[in-house]
Amino acid sequence: MSTVQHLPSAVEALLADGTTALIRPLAPADHDAVLDLHAERMSDVSRRMRFFGASRRAPELTADRLCGPPRPGFLALGAWVGGDLVGEADYESEPGHEDAAELAVAVADAWQHRGVGTLLIEHLVHAARERGIHTIEADTLAGNRAVHRVFSDLGLPVHRHLDQGEIKVTVPLDESDEHYREAVDERGRAADVASLAALLRPRSVAVVGASRRLGSVGQAVLRKIREGGFTGEVWAVNPYAEQIAGEPAYPALGALPRVPDLAVLAVPPAVVASAAQECGRAGVRALVVLTSGLGADAARQLMHACRRHSMRLVGPNSLGIAQTDPEVRLDAEFGGAFPLPGTAGVAVQSGGVGIALLERLAWLGIGVSSFVSLGDKYDVSGNDLLQWWESDGHTDLALLHVESFGSPRAFARTARRVSRTIPVLTVDAGRSAAGRRGAASHTAAAATPTVTREALFRQAGITATRGIAELVETAALLHAQPLPGTRGAVAVVSNAGGIGILAADACVEAGLSVPELPAALTDELRALLPAAAGATNPVDTTAAIGLDELRSCVDMLVRSRAVDAVLVCLAPTALTTGERDGLVHALADGPARRRVPVVAVMLSQEVPVRYLSCVDGRRLPSYADPVTAARALAHAVDRARWLAEPTTAEAVVSDSDPASGRLLVDAFLGANPGGGWLDPVLTAQLLECYGLPLTLSIWAPDEHAVVLAAQSLRQLGHDGRVALKAYWQGQVHKSAAGAVRTGLTTDAEVRSAYREFTQHFGDRMAGAVVQPMAGPGLELLAGVVQDQVFGPLVVFGLGGTATDVMDDRSARLAPLTERDLSTMITDLRSAPLLLGRPGLPGVDLAAVGRVLAGLSRLAADLPEVVEADLNPLIARPDGLACVDARIRLEPRPTFDPYLRRLRRPVADPPKEEP
Ligand code: ADP
Ligand code: MG
Repeated sequence: MSTVQHLPSAVEALLADGTTALIRPLAPADHDAVLDLHAERMSDVSRRMRFFGASRRAPELTADRLCGPPRPGFLALGAWVGGDLVGEADYESEPGHEDAAELAVAVADAWQHRGVGTLLIEHLVHAARERGIHTIEADTLAGNRAVHRVFSDLGLPVHRHLDQGEIKVTVPLDESDEHYREAVDERGRAADVASLAALLRPRSVAVVGASRRLGSVGQAVLRKIREGGFTGEVWAVNPYAEQIAGEPAYPALGALPRVPDLAVLAVPPAVVASAAQECGRAGVRALVVLTSGLGADAARQLMHACRRHSMRLVGPNSLGIAQTDPEVRLDAEFGGAFPLPGTAGVAVQSGGVGIALLERLAWLGIGVSSFVSLGDKYDVSGNDLLQWWESDGHTDLALLHVESFGSPRAFARTARRVSRTIPVLTVDAGRSAAGRRGAASHTAAAATPTVTREALFRQAGITATRGIAELVETAALLHAQPLPGTRGAVAVVSNAGGIGILAADACVEAGLSVPELPAALTDELRALLPAAAGATNPVDTTAAIGLDELRSCVDMLVRSRAVDAVLVCLAPTALTTGERDGLVHALADGPARRRVPVVAVMLSQEVPVRYLSCVDGRRLPSYADPVTAARALAHAVDRARWLAEPTTAEAVVSDSDPASGRLLVDAFLGANPGGGWLDPVLTAQLLECYGLPLTLSIWAPDEHAVVLAAQSLRQLGHDGRVALKAYWQGQVHKSAAGAVRTGLTTDAEVRSAYREFTQHFGDRMAGAVVQPMAGPGLELLAGVVQDQVFGPLVVFGLGGTATDVMDDRSARLAPLTERDLSTMITDLRSAPLLLGRPGLPGVDLAAVGRVLAGLSRLAADLPEVVEADLNPLIARPDGLACVDARIRLEPRPTFDPYLRRLRRPVADPPKEEP
């Protein structure tokens, strides 16, 4: 393949202590910085470790070597913090041995033990892998503990050989990928959490722009911080006021007695960027920007100030943040009352939704651990907060109301991990086309159809609800009751038969079952309940039920193990009115409800959901409507099922060649920096790299070549019939444009079809593709899309002309597991056509699985593939032929899950600070 080599672009990432570092390839202009690093900022000892001796010229020679023009087999990366080079790492391979490279790393003394070396090596390993390097080696001195630790903590297998006081470290890059990814994830999580501490557990806060005007946002926040009893120090900064809300104000950040950890900016849009720069220069570690309406330039400068000075940023357009831990007690938001301390982590994009959520959680008594109004999410996103809540020790429930979670490629990994320990709930905002229009206008969220979105949230372990009310109703159940069993079998009990029937309907409609009860249990119930009662499911106790009987009835159902949940509907009746509370208490104080959730429906209740306190301290949710209760139960069953699913390994792709795929993509984007559709030849080549074979397709630039191609296909023993497809750059649907002819048999037919093409399409036609006809079969489609919320997805479904009519598709987050391969097929309404049944053969499922697995790997390896579409795949019992494929590439804008880096909504490289 070609030797085209694109240098990795500059990225920013967090060091172990949460400091932001810029990682980018070294260039000739960095010569002095590298020289300075090696000559001045490393001790003699460090230098000896690096150079195995202390040659005076070593720093100079190193700077020369590292800062030359790009050359094949060599890459040097530098790490910068606040404009200073704090470390470098490079690899170099010997000519003729390009699959191995020698690695070296150096970190300034003052920056050691902060993860600089590890971060540099991660990025270098990533680049090396992409360039087809299979092993990296490093010669290190036996006493160089720091470097040995970096290697052993990396998460890659490391082999060591001792040779005369030197240790040769060998790291094979192909092995143990999942382990390495977990190690990278873990380091990323730790660094992320460290960087968020200044935001969510600050010891001091400055409110910048607090004005004297009563009712101003800044002043409101200042008051709330004080009145909320913040345990740290708080100051107001305002050049135009000496006193604000009765307290002294400081004219500038520099005039404060100490540097605050966190600054809340409530200044006009035009001065946000300069205020942020002032904060950064002073050493502030985090910003919450309440201001909205920033222009593109101001936004870019704000981001730049944050990255350059290592500040995490919430907002702009944020309502603020709150931390209820008694050690902190920070209420820096201009919503309602001080949030009730509790255990739900809440993050919202829209402030109004945030206030509503806080109120409802307070009313229920769940309360919040921390609250963040993310606003426009320039930096801190839902992903960051999931990681924070995962490890803050206070949060047992995560609630997000966001249109997207942050870096789509990181989302699935983070969500899947966090959902294992705490329930993660979200409102699926932007489901409808109209909703997406609204969402797109401020976050350009994705356009995945609803069915698919549900499946994708589920795959990530997230409980997606249809609105705020459903979110709170579901949270109430998940927070207070054990998870139901995975069967989803519910026993319905009511004191009024009609309501029981409604509740049973609601359960079934929500995807639960209301099974018949075992005969022994029915007998037991019959013996217990009043004579007129119905002892089948739904159980009708009749209005004559007494308190003790009701309690025993529920206990019997719970203990029986015949059901996974008990839903008790109580209607006020003339007989029970006096006893209404009593009946409810019968539910609340029954023993042994530990394993099976019990929920109540009280038709007389005025609020949609409330808690009944049980004697054992547990709370039992009571709903006003059986539909609501059933929906909450169904979400809980879904979560139980998800948790019970084995976390199977990624689907195996046997014959892939990712290094060639990488080269091909780099070469195309080198020639087409804006991206675009691959031509038929490149498309076939890229698919080949992932074991995805396209039907033999011969490229023919003119009539003569077309006829020759058809003849040679006939000689190859195909049945003689060919397909002819006109090609021009940028074409979309060929058959709709009349550019496909199938079933051509003779030279004359082929020739005249080609002539018609040339007449019709004229000069724009670049030539044609000649293919043998695939035998008849079921037309399927498979492909890759990059979803703005979920990241890369593999899509599968009915293809060919049925695509639009039937709209029968399944989709999964890439990378797919072995299990995904089969559920993607069984999820389709047309699954029986694929699986077959007696008398009707299905299709070659193993071949389908191979295509899906290959696409999954392609999507995971190559974020530049924004669209890949194999349509149709013609499937038969004995094989699969792909007769048409299209692939579109874009320069990599996206986050790579295997590389730690910060999200960057501002596409341009940062300009120097004015
Ligand atoms: P497009 O999707 O751009 O319209 P295709 O290459 O998919 O063009 O061709 C359209 C339809 O023609 C396919 O869905 C398939 O039914 C049929 N077709 C195309 N090529 C072949 C082939 N080599 N063998 C059999 N059928 C083909
Ligand atoms: Mg097609």
